[in-house]
Amino acid sequence: MNAYDSARMADVMAPHGFAPVDVPEDADMVVLNTCHIREKAAEKVYSELGRMRALKRAKSEKGERLIVAVAGCVAQAEGEEILRRADVVDIVVGPQVYHRLPEMVARLARGEKALDTEFPVVDKFDALPEAKSVEGPAAFLTVQEGCDKFCTFCVVPYTRGAEYSRSVAQIEEEARRLTDLGAREITLLGQNVNAYHGAGPDGQAWGLGRLIRRLARIDGLKRLRYTTSHPRDMDDELIAAHRDEEKLMPYLHLPVQAGSDAVLEAMNRGHTADDYRRLVGRIRAARPDIALSSDFIVGFPSESEADFEATLSLVREIDYAQSFSFKYSPRPGTPAAAARKQVPEAVKAERLERLQALLNAQADAFSQACVGREIDVLFEKAGRHAGQLIGRSPYLQAVHAHAGSHKIGDIARVRVTQKMSHSLGAELVTGAAAMAVAL
Ligand code: SAM
Ligand code: SF4
Repeated sequence: MNAYDSARMADVMAPHGFAPVDVPEDADMVVLNTCHIREKAAEKVYSELGRMRALKRAKSEKGERLIVAVAGCVAQAEGEEILRRADVVDIVVGPQVYHRLPEMVARLARGEKALDTEFPVVDKFDALPEAKSVEGPAAFLTVQEGCDKFCTFCVVPYTRGAEYSRSVAQIEEEARRLTDLGAREITLLGQNVNAYHGAGPDGQAWGLGRLIRRLARIDGLKRLRYTTSHPRDMDDELIAAHRDEEKLMPYLHLPVQAGSDAVLEAMNRGHTADDYRRLVGRIRAARPDIALSSDFIVGFPSESEADFEATLSLVREIDYAQSFSFKYSPRPGTPAAAARKQVPEAVKAERLERLQALLNAQADAFSQACVGREIDVLFEKAGRHAGQLIGRSPYLQAVHAHAGSHKIGDIARVRVTQKMSHSLGAELVTGAAAMAVAL
């Protein structure tokens, strides 16, 4: 979502003469778009601001100016604290008001530092300009923001605010525009994307399944994905969309976080491990080839060795194609941060290592099982070798292939020939014209 927001900020600043540059040294304005989800991400901002201070000084010695803005969830959570801790910062702008960046830059010209962390969410999407270009054939589109679930470890409800869904009409218009600009795949985004309940053209609230069916009617659009989903919001309509809708890719990120009911309850996830197993069963019955991925938190307060083993056993049962796992990071203001029974860092680290060994083995096995199979790849960028393109499989794996006459934006059928550490090698399936991959 930060990638989507950064692109929108560039769109907002474009009419005011700003265009993206590759390195901060070439910039008149630097926007750090930040993440507050774990402490490490938040702390990175302050070390980056140290670099910006040196750059600003160097530029001012040459008589040049540099505006430094902090955007995103760290801006939302820390607000004025950022201006106090880092005097290099000129602008602090929360994720719901970045459409006001030009006004804030104008205030700076009058000598005032600017801080805005309001939550007028409806405003933002109405005020944002249309996208003028896409970065490649795979685009993002935010359909939902914020969260009302209040998991006890998570800052999102505080930094992104209450759940809000954009209207079907507004999303469809943006999807058509992205497609006209060259997008062939769109990933629908939301902190809790399957809680989507936007106003439909019939005046009813539409769920994500219905929205996906509507967007699948857009001609040039070939693939749809969505992320991130909550198990509790995986309704029948959405599962049926996985069964029926060819354009909806058979890959689902469905975070479970932990496999112990006691931990799930302490996290306020609102479901048990068995609820999750049954849900996965229903999804796999509807779409047998679906690949699943998940997020995991290890070392949540009071997590015992037995609780952690329940996570390992759930992982063994579900068998994930890919996963993201983290040590629990106490976040200021969240209930779990105040819990008395915090798990020592060394225990967290040791559990994370064991979990990741299992998850990596499953991901490797999934990729290995693709070798010899024919799959469709959407080519997204040039590879390192002449004539080679890199694309994505339906399961989101990076695939390298000699692309023949295919170009970026094409979908081609390939046969997977090789599993590499983070990608697959493949050859085009074009009968006699098939070429071997040189990697
Ligand atoms: N809404 C999604 C859900 O409910 O599963 C997750 C969105 S959250 C922005 C992304 C991931 O960050 C979570 O799934 C969780 O694994 C991780 N995360 C959130 N807060 C965390 C914390 N305090 N410590 C470690 N990981 C955290
Ligand atoms: Fe955070 Fe997801 Fe829980 Fe919402 S549902 S509070 S975004 S982890």
